[in-house]
Amino acid sequence: MRILIVEDETRIADFLQRGLRAEGHFCVVANDGETGLSLALEGDFDLILLDMMLPGIHGRDICQQLRMNKINTPLIILSAMDSLDDVIAGLRMGADDYMTKPFSFEELLARIETVMRRSTEIGSDEESLAVGRLAFDRESLRFSVDGKEVKMTAKELAIIELLMSNPGTLFSRERILSNVWGLNMDPLTNVVDVYIGKLRKKIDVKGEESMIETVRGLGYRLNVGA
Ligand code: CA
Repeated sequence: MRILIVEDETRIADFLQRGLRAEGHFCVVANDGETGLSLALEGDFDLILLDMMLPGIHGRDICQQLRMNKINTPLIILSAMDSLDDVIAGLRMGADDYMTKPFSFEELLARIETVMRRSTEIGSDEESLAVGRLAFDRESLRFSVDGKEVKMTAKELAIIELLMSNPGTLFSRERILSNVWGLNMDPLTNVVDVYIGKLRKKIDVKGEESMIETVRGLGYRLNVGA
């Protein structure tokens, strides 16, 4: 992947660059906010690692500028412990994840993997998804069935969004687990099945075929014909 590292602390930038190059990635480092923003605006990267406290332009503003310019490159904030407000602002501006310094390189790789998988699966930057009787508005996080709003928990929404992003595609339990709960979940847990059960209660019509089809031994898919 082509990765842009926007980080003014040389020590951290070097550490990231060395590690990511060893993993086979191509890295470009920007040591200040202006350079970072102008490189990022070219839209030529697969991933951006963005520090918050930067000379020139603050990371939070870089994030906002990018999303305003429809640059939807996956972006992970690297922040110091004391800038939690900036992190929250960054996430609101459309960052995909954040890491608090110091962090281990292994943890960074795991986060990158999750963000990249999510970005290829969720992929589109469409603001709303509609499949059959289901509709989900990503801006307002409003989910509705047959036009009526249905309250969902965050995990329920994450699962149904994943299934709706690729209707008819089979999602294994492992894939749902790693997308929704992260990489460190025990693959033997039945939490996915429990949540699918909850979702069915909310979206299905009694007596009719479920919108979420169980593919025995393999996983689940959204039944587009239902
Ligand atoms: Ca900094």
